[in-house]
Amino acid sequence: MFPVPYKYKLIALVQTAVLTALILLGVVTYRKITSLIETEMGMRARGVALAASYLVNLRMDEYLELVSPADEEKPFYEEMKKLFQEFKASNNLKYMYTEKRISEDQIVYILDAEPEDSEYASHIGDTDDMNALRHRTYASGKPEYGPLTDDPVWGKFITGYAPLINSENGEMVGLIGVDIEAGEVFRLFREILVVITAAICIIFVLSFAVVYKLADLMARPMFIDGLTGTYNHKYFQEALALEINRASRTGKPLSTLMMDLDYFKKVNDTYGHRFGDVVLMETAKLLKESFRKGDTLARYGGEEFGVILPNTDIGEAFVLASHIRHEVEQQTVHCRESGVDVNVTISIGVAEWKRGLKRGDLIDMADKALYESKNRNRNMVTIYTDECRNFYRRK
Ligand code: GH3
Ligand code: MG
Ligand code: MG
Repeated sequence: MFPVPYKYKLIALVQTAVLTALILLGVVTYRKITSLIETEMGMRARGVALAASYLVNLRMDEYLELVSPADEEKPFYEEMKKLFQEFKASNNLKYMYTEKRISEDQIVYILDAEPEDSEYASHIGDTDDMNALRHRTYASGKPEYGPLTDDPVWGKFITGYAPLINSENGEMVGLIGVDIEAGEVFRLFREILVVITAAICIIFVLSFAVVYKLADLMARPMFIDGLTGTYNHKYFQEALALEINRASRTGKPLSTLMMDLDYFKKVNDTYGHRFGDVVLMETAKLLKESFRKGDTLARYGGEEFGVILPNTDIGEAFVLASHIRHEVEQQTVHCRESGVDVNVTISIGVAEWKRGLKRGDLIDMADKALYESKNRNRNMVTIYTDECRNFYRRK
């Protein structure tokens, strides 16, 4: 894939920031919705408890006579249990019961909606501890609801309490409690959340892919030469700076080639500019095939190409350059208009980067070696050596 320029990386960075913001927003929304569900269900629990309290309040005299386990034999007890069971089923309750405070920290159960033989049935006189919600309801004398409870046995539920009032003297004789099933709502909510999260993730992955693809497409004309399809001068400069940086970090060798077609003006003059373009394209094609994946081939100028060879010392670069010189020499390009096969040759300068050398220095060195190839009758490879004027040339 074409290297992504920094400004497109920036776009991706912005996208990451947006994603992070979305996740934070999601967490806040999740909390808000959870608390909204809790409040709504709590209010329902409170309302249901209040409605249920009338089942008892209307028969307060008989209710007050339920004081010991033996009273469970009374027809009223049986009748109330049935009534409670119907009420429990129609309101989708987990549990429903009445209770009486017997001390600051204890209550006794009186009625409930469980079948007699259920292990969860509470019998008259069974005790339990007071809790914050009970204290609150006894203190306010009004219906109250508690927070969401997640119990290992009962699952998720919300409790609503309503006072049981003796209408004769207005006295509060105890509480009626209902536990509203909440697990289903939260399960559904979580399922919806998973779907939404997955959708957001997919949208983001796709938009990331689109941004990278767009970056690729938009960067193409910026860094690719239109005629030959090789990288352009601008890209060559940036890539060379990057490779020098890398080489100075890793200590691995780095070499550069500067190549220029010989007597190209003559090709243009003889066969026309359009054919000259064809020769340039064909030569570029040949060059592209000659280099390895990590190498960078760029059209440096008119009929001049530059190559960056990472992990390549001067010896290897020279072998590669000689191979290319030979390939170009062997290549013939057919000119349809003139009906002739045209040969071109290439002159090459080779230079190896050494610690302390800047990008411009390396290009100058390869250029000087190229100039030397031109001076020595062209179609030649020249190595730039440390001694500046000491060139090594070979056909
Ligand atoms: P030398 O061996 O010294 O390099 O000789 P040369 O003729 O190749 O060098 P010179 O610099 O005199 O001419 C380069 C020519 O390359 C001149 C220019 O018209 C031609 N040229 C540069 N770019 C293009 C191009 O894109 N298409 C065509 N057809 N010709 C080009
Ligand atoms: Mg030339
Ligand atoms: Mg030239």
